[in-house]
Amino acid sequence: MTANDDAFARAQAALPGGVNSPVRAYGSVGGTPRFLVSARGAYVTDVDGREYVDLVASWGPALLGHAHPEVVAAVQTAAARGLSFGASTPAETELAELVRARLGAASGVEKLRLVSTGTEATMTAIRLARGATGRELVVKFAGHYHGHSDGLLAEAGSGVATQGLPGSAGVPAPIAAQTLVLPYNDLAAVEAAFAAHPGRIAAVITEAAGANAGVLAPQPGFNRALVELAHAHGALVILDEVLTGFRVGPAGWWGLEGAAEGWAPDLFTFGKVIGGGMPLAALGGRAALMDQLAPLGPVYQAGTLSGNPLAVAAGLTTLRLAEAEVYAHVDAAADAVAAAVSEALAAEGVAHVIPRAGSLFSIAFREAPVRDYADAKAQDAWRYAPFFHALLEQGVSAPPSVYEAWFLTAAHDAAALDRILRALPAAARAAATA
Ligand code: PMP
Repeated sequence: MTANDDAFARAQAALPGGVNSPVRAYGSVGGTPRFLVSARGAYVTDVDGREYVDLVASWGPALLGHAHPEVVAAVQTAAARGLSFGASTPAETELAELVRARLGAASGVEKLRLVSTGTEATMTAIRLARGATGRELVVKFAGHYHGHSDGLLAEAGSGVATQGLPGSAGVPAPIAAQTLVLPYNDLAAVEAAFAAHPGRIAAVITEAAGANAGVLAPQPGFNRALVELAHAHGALVILDEVLTGFRVGPAGWWGLEGAAEGWAPDLFTFGKVIGGGMPLAALGGRAALMDQLAPLGPVYQAGTLSGNPLAVAAGLTTLRLAEAEVYAHVDAAADAVAAAVSEALAAEGVAHVIPRAGSLFSIAFREAPVRDYADAKAQDAWRYAPFFHALLEQGVSAPPSVYEAWFLTAAHDAAALDRILRALPAAARAAATA
């Protein structure tokens, strides 16, 4: 029995499924999940001392690579001054100002509220939208994941998709009924929902670019039309950039698309990169809307650890270091890996497409492009497990589900990329013979 097997056995006795977040359990790929003890740059190390090139990046946050020395130093400095005060700090304002400056005036982001998780950010954004509009219904898209709050689990992506669940037990039917789940990239379905529920839809929440049912990019013009349609019906748009924010570009997906096309949502949600690997997330929008949050307004939201000084230090330092070259590097690394994955699978005759949204990509074992959740589910998903394990055996840690995006970082240098490229032919062979 390896140390890793032992760690998993002990964990299973102490933690449900041996994990604190479902996808970590390798449910869809099988085998024993890796228990990690350290991470640096592009690499993670498990309890047996095996090192892997990491393509998970903590599910996105590690944009600069793991344990970037300047980020670690900033957190250490903050820690030495006190772990948590439960009072405001100047650094929280600096982080909000930095985010505002990065997005620019056209985004409409004037004020932010810092929270600890993406789940809290989207949950609060929805409460705010309901409070501001006096309406109750929310539109979400099938295969999009917005965290695990009650109303947002219906046909959700990420772990919900990996486990093949329609939603979650424990969500009261009247709460689930407040969420209308529509097919992604289908404007006619959005129009029909507004027509069917006049004056009742508070908000449409959408991933800026879908990345939780594999990558599901918005069709050109979809986000803009969504904003126009929602506004025409008096509803707000919540652009969920928890995953894409500050990862696919300096101003997230909106910076690549909305800024160029001249549209903006009413609320943004951020997570992952904004906390640089520490628990930090945020929502932001126009002052008039954000000021409806307590203490100024009637929409309540709070958090003992909100704006935690260590998390803010990590986020501030990460964003300051995430300059244009970082994004250029991550884009180029993603191009190289995505192309190599496709080449290796093609060489083995495995039908596949590589859905792409900026530097994010995933594999779908099918021939036709992936536009929505139904497409994402209509693939030879079983090919992913042997593919994943063949990579793992060769020291490459891909996401443990076909429904998750692959994450490159600024630390994926030539040596790290070379290890991935050398591992791909055998992985493709395993996928072909599965
Ligand atoms: N929204 C999106 C788009 C996400 O990808 C995630 C997490 N993967 C969340 C919200 C929830 O964030 P958290 O896991 O921090 O609660």
